[in-house]
Amino acid sequence: VPLLSARGLVKAYGRTPALRGASLDLHAGEILAVTGPSGSSKSTLLHCLAGIVRPDEGTVSYGDETLSGLPEARLGELRRTDFGVVFQFGQLIPELTVRDNVALPLLLGGLGRAQAGARADEWLERFGVRGQRELRPGELSGGQAQRVALARALVTGPRVVFADEPTGALDSLSGEQVMTALVGAARETGAAVLLVTHDAQTAAYAGREVRMADGTVEPAEVTA
Ligand code: ADP
Ligand code: ADP
Repeated sequence: VPLLSARGLVKAYGRTPALRGASLDLHAGEILAVTGPSGSSKSTLLHCLAGIVRPDEGTVSYGDETLSGLPEARLGELRRTDFGVVFQFGQLIPELTVRDNVALPLLLGGLGRAQAGARADEWLERFGVRGQRELRPGELSGGQAQRVALARALVTGPRVVFADEPTGALDSLSGEQVMTALVGAARETGAAVLLVTHDAQTAAYAGREVRMADGTVEPAEVTA
């Protein structure tokens, strides 16, 4: 039984069609790359699966819940507890320190300050950015910022990590460091990863790859 599953997703932005009947299964613990050219609706698919965008048609199932049938409050809860997201440009909060950025999801989840800070430090340590914890995001390199964004995505112990072009703004060495950190953390925690990328080097970290073309998903060869 897949952990997360999309069936027949259709989504248009005004008159611009994006998804045209996309289906996909993500299994517990797997790292799945969704590849394809710019504009093939990879991000839109990820947004639908993560409950950020509601499809016009089709369903997304997570366990025994159907995302489109959920009240906004339950969706918000899922996004906080079960899902973690990383985008191309880390999207850290510029006014907060690195440490507070990573602690924030825990504070929102009701954890106390001291515990949240301690857990944030653990994740910063494992991603090699603990030394930067008092800095603001603007003082980080791109690779450091993405590793902080990873720490923030993983700190709550999500079952699914959604990564949208996580290496898209990085040089190839920083990209490798970010992917190594992501894959290692996923293996250790058992989180599944839905990785959207147009970069073959990044996709090579996945256990399975599917390709998007014109808003639908084509199965591609198993890469590992
Ligand atoms: P990809 O991630 O493969 O580059 P996207 O999902 O970002 O593809 O975009 C798919 C199509 O939907 C593109 O034509 C894009 O311009 C359009 N699109 C995506 N997001 C929006 C939006 N918020 N408003 C209008 N059009 C959008
Ligand atoms: P990517 O191809 O990496 O997904 P894009 O540049 O297509 O990045 O999109 C970046 C952001 O802008 C996304 O949140 C997407 O939904 C939004 N977007 C993309 N195309 C459009 C558009 N035509 N109009 C408005 N928003 C868009």
